Amino acid sequence: MSTTTDNPTLAPPTGIKEAPVQLPPVGELTEAQLRGHRCVWCANPLDPARCVDLGERIAEDGYRCFPRACTIRTVAMVHAQLVEHSATCEQCADDDTLCAETAELRRALRDGRRL
Ligand SMILES: [Zn+2]
Ligand SMILES: [Zn+2]
Repeated sequence: MSTTTDNPTLAPPTGIKEAPVQLPPVGELTEAQLRGHRCVWCANPLDPARCVDLGERIAEDGYRCFPRACTIRTVAMVHAQLVEHSATCEQCADDDTLCAETAELRRALRDGRRL
């Protein structure tokens, strides 16, 4: 396998503006979910000591959201996203320790498993 010659034209990881963990569309989320009081995926109330911070998001109208999720859903959803991502990401095929998306997905997964 050749990994040294081609420099892929994909946007560099530092250019990623959105946190990589994919969330349901904003239109499907309630105020309590956007504020991090309830899980973004299952809508259950969250225990502040046992939930995963998914990073600040900005909605289209500039509204700042701080979504969080329960650990069970985080592990399931983020693991699925990580598998899907690594199957299509050139950076990960080359060296996944350099991929910012994978780093963030793994961080969320680690938080979900630890709590
Ligand atoms: Zn949940
Ligand atoms: Zn990647």
